[in-house]
Amino acid sequence: MKQKQIILPPNEQVKSWYNVIADIPGGLAPPLDPATGQPMGPEKLGAIFPVGLLEQEMSGQRWVDIPEEILDIWQIWRPSPLIRATFLEQAIGTKAKIYYKYEGVSPSGSHKTNSAVAQAYYNKREGVKRLATETGAGQWGCALSFAAHKFGLDCKVYMVRVSYDQKPYRKVMMNTYGAEIVPSPSPDTPTGREIMEKYPDTPGSLGIAISEALEDTVSREDTKYALGSVFNHVCLHQTVIGLEAKKQLALAGDYPDVVIGCCGGGSNFAGLAAPFVPDKLEGRNIRLVGVEPTSCPTLTKGSCAYDFGDVSQRTPLLYMYTLGHDFIPSGIHAGGLRYHGMAPVISAMMRENLMEATALQQLECFEAGTLFARTEGIIPAPESCHAVRAAIIEATREPDKPQTILFNLSGHGLLDLASYEKYFAGELTNYDLPD
Ligand SMILES: *Cc1c(COP(=O)(O)O)cnc(C)c1O
Repeated sequence: MKQKQIILPPNEQVKSWYNVIADIPGGLAPPLDPATGQPMGPEKLGAIFPVGLLEQEMSGQRWVDIPEEILDIWQIWRPSPLIRATFLEQAIGTKAKIYYKYEGVSPSGSHKTNSAVAQAYYNKREGVKRLATETGAGQWGCALSFAAHKFGLDCKVYMVRVSYDQKPYRKVMMNTYGAEIVPSPSPDTPTGREIMEKYPDTPGSLGIAISEALEDTVSREDTKYALGSVFNHVCLHQTVIGLEAKKQLALAGDYPDVVIGCCGGGSNFAGLAAPFVPDKLEGRNIRLVGVEPTSCPTLTKGSCAYDFGDVSQRTPLLYMYTLGHDFIPSGIHAGGLRYHGMAPVISAMMRENLMEATALQQLECFEAGTLFARTEGIIPAPESCHAVRAAIIEATREPDKPQTILFNLSGHGLLDLASYEKYFAGELTNYDLPD
C-alpha cells in the first residue's frame, strides 16, 4: 500500500520562518514614498502597521523565530497534512508522484489563517485595539476575524462587493467570529462614496477595498491595518507551509522536481516555494511554478514596475509585477486571484529566474477541481483549482516520467459551492485579457 498521509512528529515542528529575501541575488527594490520618490522610512508606515510587522517587512534576516503565542494557536491545525494524491494519480494515469500540502484544515479553511494569527499577535503586543482590512473572496476576512477575536481585538472587514453577493455565508462566518463586515465600495469611507457615485454597478475590486480599509485606519487612533497577501511579512509567515512540506517529503524519502502554487498576491505560493530557493541556488534541479488566471495575468502579461497597491494611491509604491493599480478584473470565481499586483518577493524571484509562471482558464480549473473532489474527496477552493490543474498538466505531459510534483491545496471550497453550481450549470465562461 502506498503511504497516503505524512505526519510530522511533534519534535519536528517548524519554529522559525524563512526569509527568502536574504538569498535573492540583488535583493528587493525598496518601497518608495510616492510623495518624494525616496525609499519609504518605517516612520510613515508606522501609522498603519505595528513595529513588529514593520521590522519583518524591512528585514533581510534569513531566519526569524516564531513567537510561542502564535505556535500555541497554530496547534489547532498545524502541522497541516501532506497527502499523496494516489487516487488522482491513478485517475489520470501518471507515473508521477503528486503530493499536496493541505491548508484547508485551518479554522477558516485556507492558508490565510497562518498570517492572520501572526498579524493579530503583533498588533495586540503593541496595544492596538482594532484592525481594519479588506477581503476579496472572503477567506482573508474570515481568517482575520478569527485571529482578531483570539487576541481580543475588534475587526472591521471591507469585502469586495461581487464576493459579498456571491458568498453570503462568508459574511455569517465573519459575524460568528465577531467581526463587522460591509460590502466595498461602501458608504463608510470617502473612496467608497466616490466610487459608488461614479460607478453604481461596480463589482468592486481588491484595490478599492484596500483604499477603504486604509482610510478607516488613518481616521482612527485605535486602529491598524492588516493585509492578507503581497507584503513581505505575509510571505514570511506563510513559509511554515514549505518548511513543513520539506520535512514531510524527507520523511517519505522524496524531494520535488516541480513545486506548484496558485498566485493571487503571491503569499501561499511564496510560502510553499520560497523554502526551496536555497536548494535551487545551490544548483538543485527544481522548478517553482506560480499559476494565475488568464483573466488577471499579473506575472504572464503584466510589467515589473513601481506601482500602488490600491486604486486611490494610498499605499507606498511597490516594485512588483502589475497590471496597473486601476485594473478591475472580470468577476471570475477565484476571487482571491483577482489582484492587480504580485508580491515583491515573488516579483524578485521572477526577475532572477528562480521561478516561472503560467496562466490558466477558469473552466479547465473547475474541471480539474471536480476531478480532484471525485478522486481525493476534498473540494478545492476555486483559487486552489488552478494549482490542481497545473499539477495535472505537469503529471500528464510525460505520463511515464517518474517525477515528483508538490502543490499547495491552499484552501477548501465548501463556502464556494455557488461557483461550482454555476460551473455545473454551464454558466461560467473563459476569459482572456486582451494584450
Ligand atoms: C487568498 C487565497 C489565495 C490567493 O492569495 P495568495 O496570497 O496568492 O496566496 C489562494 N488560495 C486561497 C484558498 C485563498 O484564500
